Amino acid sequence: MNIANHLVRAGAARGDRPAVALGGNVLLRYAQLADRAARIAGGLIGIYGLQPGDRVGLAMKNCPEYLEVLYGCWHAGLIAVPINAKLHSREFAFILENSGARLCFATSDLVETVAGIAQPPLERLIEVGGGEYGQLLSVDAIPCMARAPEDGAWLFYTSGTTGRPKGAELSHRNLLAMIFCYFADMDQGTPWDAILHAAPISHGSGLYGLAHVTQASCHVLPESGGFHPEEIYRIIGHWPGLSFFAAPTMVKRLIDHPEDMDTSNLKQINYGGGPMYVADSRAGIERFGPKFAQLYGQGESPMTITALSQQVHADMAHPRWLERLGSVGTAQSVVEVRIADTEDNFLPVGEVGEIQVRGDAVMNGYWGNPDATAETLRGGWLHTGDMGAFDAEGFLTLKDRSKDMIISGGTNIYPREVEETLLRHPGVTEVSVIGRPDPEWGEVVVAFVVAVDDGVQAAALDAYCLENIARFKRPKEYRFVAELPKNNYGKVLKTELREADSKAMKSNG
Ligand code: AMP
Repeated sequence: MNIANHLVRAGAARGDRPAVALGGNVLLRYAQLADRAARIAGGLIGIYGLQPGDRVGLAMKNCPEYLEVLYGCWHAGLIAVPINAKLHSREFAFILENSGARLCFATSDLVETVAGIAQPPLERLIEVGGGEYGQLLSVDAIPCMARAPEDGAWLFYTSGTTGRPKGAELSHRNLLAMIFCYFADMDQGTPWDAILHAAPISHGSGLYGLAHVTQASCHVLPESGGFHPEEIYRIIGHWPGLSFFAAPTMVKRLIDHPEDMDTSNLKQINYGGGPMYVADSRAGIERFGPKFAQLYGQGESPMTITALSQQVHADMAHPRWLERLGSVGTAQSVVEVRIADTEDNFLPVGEVGEIQVRGDAVMNGYWGNPDATAETLRGGWLHTGDMGAFDAEGFLTLKDRSKDMIISGGTNIYPREVEETLLRHPGVTEVSVIGRPDPEWGEVVVAFVVAVDDGVQAAALDAYCLENIARFKRPKEYRFVAELPKNNYGKVLKTELREADSKAMKSNG
């Protein structure tokens, strides 16, 4: 079952429905969107000779063409590799090389970056909206290629704990399972809904976009291309039945915005990807009504581990309403979720351990990385690296992120990657990076640095990071220390660093 069939069907059955809109303007209807995707597929095979299973990079910021490229790839039986547009050119280079992409689509802002790093097996770079792109659209449409459920569809690159991203290979079956769960556990969906892509389509917003193609809902893009609360409020005012995916920090920005506009059109805000404070959930419910649903997932089981439905958010009379708001909800319909100890023994209700998942949403494995796959999927369970506990009613609460990952503004940052970068600077002897809780961003990056002869300045390290990693991964603060606290094995004690940082913050007021 090829996932692209959903668009083919929407194009046939609901062809006159708005499919893609910029602000309030409809750019494409479903019949047009389906036709364009089928032409792009025809071009990818006919002009460039791509074969089913080949990878195609999508170095694309959110744009009206995103869906036709994505579905065009699937229609042709290819594996799409959506890449976060904010990454550094080195990260683009790594992902393109690691995935073995033969062709890459890039939005105009990223064409130069990709051209600068392009090397075999990448044969072709196509600028979205450019002349060559126009040629693709003039090719005859082809029928949707047959795909087996386990065939790869989306390589989702997560940042690896070793600092190297890993490509979670998501199959057509995985994406179908995710779509089913959206309708079963998050929102029943109706054909007249609209989805706003306020977050990157290369990640959560795009993943949930698939369910909205299945239902032929309209995909609305903000004209600004960014996240500006007043524009989001305007879009809510325009589109009935609107829902969207937002990281907790985005929800907070909407709540904090003084705009006083009618939000009765709003159907649901799907939040997740990072912890949401209960106080913020309550403020959100006060502002919008209980129009929230939470998901907990990870690239390896996309959007699909647990869900906290709109009904639970609305059930304010429930004696444990607040505890439930502080949880990530109950297991989604197609997966089993368990808590296990370090030896993979199942743990009972109430005990904290690693969250493990199995079922149709769990990835095939990491692309070209059998060792990491065997390790992460050992015993048939996805080892999420997240810690949590179930209550007696099946609600899961996340306790800690065992991998020390930092989530800032809803985006994951792996300390190791920042540490490895800083360690390459000649002025740095040792470094350890932690997340500091922050009311606006969820967490901000703080680096503890042991400098060579006290010589290096924070400004120099900041400039170095700017040259080497994505902007959002840079430390917000550098704390220079004589030495790092370590245990007997020489392992840096991050817990002590967090405590020291928190104490210092308190004494600074
Ligand atoms: P990614 O693979 O980029 O989707 O990141 C997945 C990680 O984000 C998970 O392993 C969790 O640590 C975190 N995460 C996802 N959803 C939530 C949530 N609802 N609450 C707290 N943390 C979350």
